[in-house]
Amino acid sequence: MKIVTRFAPSPTGELHLGSAYSAWVGWHRAREAGGTFLVRIEDIDVRRCRRDDELSILADLKWLGFDWDGPVRRQSEHFADYGRVLDRLDARGLLYPCFCSRADIAREIAASAGAPHGPDGPHYPGTCRHLSLEQRRARLRAGEEHCMRLDAAKAAAEAGPYHFIDETHGRIEGEPLLLGDFVIARKDTPTSYHLAVTVDDHLQGVTLVTRGEDVLPSTHVHVLLQRLLGYETPLYAHHRLLTDPTGRRFAKRDRDMTIGAMRKAGLSPQQVIDRARRLAGELVA
Ligand code: GLU
Repeated sequence: MKIVTRFAPSPTGELHLGSAYSAWVGWHRAREAGGTFLVRIEDIDVRRCRRDDELSILADLKWLGFDWDGPVRRQSEHFADYGRVLDRLDARGLLYPCFCSRADIAREIAASAGAPHGPDGPHYPGTCRHLSLEQRRARLRAGEEHCMRLDAAKAAAEAGPYHFIDETHGRIEGEPLLLGDFVIARKDTPTSYHLAVTVDDHLQGVTLVTRGEDVLPSTHVHVLLQRLLGYETPLYAHHRLLTDPTGRRFAKRDRDMTIGAMRKAGLSPQQVIDRARRLAGELVA
């Protein structure tokens, strides 16, 4: 099978060494196998994403020598694709509108002892799941702001047991309830990261998803969505995150870790790539 990988940055800042390493893994895996490497801009958060950042990320990828195949897919141009899939799930009774504000949710969690927690914090307490059909309709008719959530227990029952394969971590049993009733379409956009990434990886025929291991918990719900939608499950390779010698993770706030800063400091593309691979523990110093 032909290998198809992708690099999917959100344009909310310059490319930094951690993301460049992700890009390197995807690019290298595709190129060594004569496969396809795609670049996708994950800009569904139209308020936070900036076109300038997108352009600088693409320029940095070119400078690093990571050439990609075909046009760059920009998620903000494909809301209709996500909307159609959302409607399919909604028609099956797997979603519900949630009218809660952040403050409502925090209050509800504080009031309920032992609220379940996931890797992203406490789960949504399910307040709006209990609304009657009439209450939902009335609030929607009144134009109340809302997001859409997946009814995770219902979805889990429909999907049945599942697993996925990660090249580093091996066979992983799916945990459909890991993120609780997560947001599948936000108040301001007809999608969420989880939905858009699942739909796009399917539409783009991605066969190997390479990304940081911080996203591993999300993979449980991406595979859940794949099961519900009848999509193939790709192979995963969640890689280690870059850390400094004390073990601290690098983040976007580490300004000297941007590719632009390293280029200005006189490093060559190969030196930047080697540095990333060393910090990921892939190369010994
Ligand atoms: N847009 C996500 C990020 O920048 C990508 C995660 C993924 O590759 O699925 O973290």
